[in-house]
Amino acid sequence: MARMLKKNYLMTPGPTPVPIDILLEGAKDTIHHRTPQYLDIQNEALENLKYLFQTDNFVYTMASSGTGAMEAAVANLLSPGDKAIAVNAGKFGERWCDLCKAYGAELIELDVEWGKYVRSEEIKKALEENPDTKAVFTTLCETSTGVVNPIKEIAEIVNKTDAVLVVDAISGLLAEPLKMDEWNVDVVVCGVQKGFMMPPGLAMIALSDKAMKIVEKSENARYYFDIRSYKKNYPDSPFTPPVNLIYQLVKSTNMLKEEGIENVWERHRIMSEATRAGVKALNLELFAEKPSNAVTAIKVPAGVDAGKLIKFLRDDWGIVFTGGQSQLKGKIIRIAHLGYMSKFDIIIAISALEMSLNKFGFKVELGKGVKAAEEVFVNEGV
Ligand SMILES: *Cc1c(COP(=O)(O)O)cnc(C)c1O
Repeated sequence: MARMLKKNYLMTPGPTPVPIDILLEGAKDTIHHRTPQYLDIQNEALENLKYLFQTDNFVYTMASSGTGAMEAAVANLLSPGDKAIAVNAGKFGERWCDLCKAYGAELIELDVEWGKYVRSEEIKKALEENPDTKAVFTTLCETSTGVVNPIKEIAEIVNKTDAVLVVDAISGLLAEPLKMDEWNVDVVVCGVQKGFMMPPGLAMIALSDKAMKIVEKSENARYYFDIRSYKKNYPDSPFTPPVNLIYQLVKSTNMLKEEGIENVWERHRIMSEATRAGVKALNLELFAEKPSNAVTAIKVPAGVDAGKLIKFLRDDWGIVFTGGQSQLKGKIIRIAHLGYMSKFDIIIAISALEMSLNKFGFKVELGKGVKAAEEVFVNEGV
């Protein structure tokens, strides 16, 4: 048969699909950033971010991908030789470890088998053994494994010590409950190309008073990501901000605020439950011990070449899933349900999975996964 017209479906944990209303904001006239007109716009976005981060602290935006905010956290909190605990439970926890090493910290790496979540007791033990620890770095949703970590429990432990808790919530914020102030999380970092439904290019970071005190005292060299200059200029930016991305951030944060944070969390919970139900109905296994609401990682069944399946789905059918990274290459398939996704996107994802599995040597009953996902939506009344 002739090749059919292809429509693209971005089902990856970043970048995520961008709604037309947000895309169009980016097409507006670029104005000068050192003007009261621009400052009003930026201030609106920053105020909305406080609500979405669930904090009264300032949230700073930086022109970079999410990793820029991770680097800012490490560069501002650690002086060379400082002790830091970092949880390596996947690719992004590994990034915390790499950053700590790059900045000359004395790293205590907590290795967690990829696919498992970090037990808060392990962090408690590491802190007891290393009472001079400056900061604990971990991840809300470990996007590479699809696992969600128990941040609330971890925060209770870290809060009792002199150390600060730094959470990479780049994919987890909005998909999972995270209450920065109520839970006493000291530093939250995020990026806009995930739950915020925006094109990539903007990072965000919020810091508690406890963390800011460390930042002020830190002796580490830093410049572009020096939090002190962001604080001094707030709500203005020390350098040229990505003006058109800030227009888009106003739109995105207003949409999310209007929906309400509890409803945003609930939306991601329902999307992920339907996805998991669909996957399980096909006799596939979930990879994550504690699956996140941002992305579902599926164990690749024996006999299926995940690389070929993912490539085929992307290039022939326009369905973009992701595979595993590093040690998980070829072992998992990841389907994101993060940001601008509706129940019918989930149906498309599960249908594509069914149809492609049959093509790549794993027999499934067509419609069985779709039915299970539909049942979740019907039962949830959405
Ligand atoms: C996407 C992601 C990152 C990386 O963000 P970039 O924007 O690519 O720099 C870091 N941590 C987690 C958990 C992520 O999901």
